[in-house]
Amino acid sequence: MIPLSRPLIGKEEINAVESVLKSGRLSLGEKTEEFEKNFANFIGTEYAVATSSGTSGLHLCMRAIDLKESDEVITTPFSFISSANCILFERAKPVFADIDEKTFNMDPEKIEDAVTERTKAILPVHIFGQPSEMDKIMQIAKKRNLKVIEDACESIGAEYNGRKAGKFGLASVFAFYPNKQITTGEGGMICTDSRHFHDICKSLRNQGRSEKGEWLDHRYLGYNYRLNEMSCALGIEQLKKIKYMLKKRNEAASEYTKMLKDVDGVRTPFVDKNIKMSWFVYVVRLEDGINRDGVIKFLLKNGIESRPYFPSIHLQPLYREKFGFREGDFPVCESVSNSVLALPFYTHMEKNTIHQVCETLEKAIKYVRGKQK
Ligand SMILES: *Cc1c(COP(=O)(O)O)cnc(C)c1O
Repeated sequence: MIPLSRPLIGKEEINAVESVLKSGRLSLGEKTEEFEKNFANFIGTEYAVATSSGTSGLHLCMRAIDLKESDEVITTPFSFISSANCILFERAKPVFADIDEKTFNMDPEKIEDAVTERTKAILPVHIFGQPSEMDKIMQIAKKRNLKVIEDACESIGAEYNGRKAGKFGLASVFAFYPNKQITTGEGGMICTDSRHFHDICKSLRNQGRSEKGEWLDHRYLGYNYRLNEMSCALGIEQLKKIKYMLKKRNEAASEYTKMLKDVDGVRTPFVDKNIKMSWFVYVVRLEDGINRDGVIKFLLKNGIESRPYFPSIHLQPLYREKFGFREGDFPVCESVSNSVLALPFYTHMEKNTIHQVCETLEKAIKYVRGKQK
């Protein structure tokens, strides 16, 4: 079976985790501090706070900007569910702005249309490793006095006009689940230049304890969103290989595009010219009318995993029930959601594996088209 994704774990990672286990210090130790320092360095922010997941990192950011129940946060309906859920965690209201047909990121004009008196923040997601239009987003935010929190969970190392994703907003969040570019098993990271924001997040991830770290001195309503030392040791080793990983992923993506660009019925990913991608997944669009479920089944029968990445968030049962969303509310997002297909993609993917996927995809499309006639 050719899997959708798989992590790249070497001897260095295994040794690093083993020595943490032997040290006896399994949480809140020097590995956490080192991982945070190296990560902040890589993104170019003053501070970084490691968290137990990307989702918990996003939640802390929503907490740290002090959302009230009537506040609105503008975000994208085309994402993994947690970028919208983190707003709901704080009982505030996610307000969706439809996406750009080509980049799949929020359309700045739609963001502007969505701003109201109650808007408190914008939460752009750099989908599939392609940064959002941050110049325009920061402009809107400045004009309307809004906070910007970047969901950079899919975009470690990506650049927009030569500047790293995660370096634009008040804060940004990265994630290290095993399908991401680098992994810690589970884990996340908040990056910020604000000392104050850093202090709040650090306290909230650790039961609301004060900066002095008195163990039973709780200042805020906090959580246990800490990242353990084994994961941080793993993250340190993974981060050392980030350049190599991004290069290999870039090569894999280029190979896919080369193979698929002339295949009838398939549209390869669009990358804007001022962007340096950090390839998270390789997602194609199938032409209207191609039976996507049929293609997925055909691929699976031939030992290839694939997935419709992502379904529209506003059409998830939770969001339909809570807000009354229906088909047609965000038409660009829906049409993208209905036609996207993520193909197997990982750092050390062999060229001939990529060729096998591409050839099988071409056959799958011919097969379902034949059946539809
Ligand atoms: C992976 C991801 C997250 C966070 O995921 P966790 O599994 O909680 O680490 C958040 N937003 C997006 C867009 C993601 O892809």
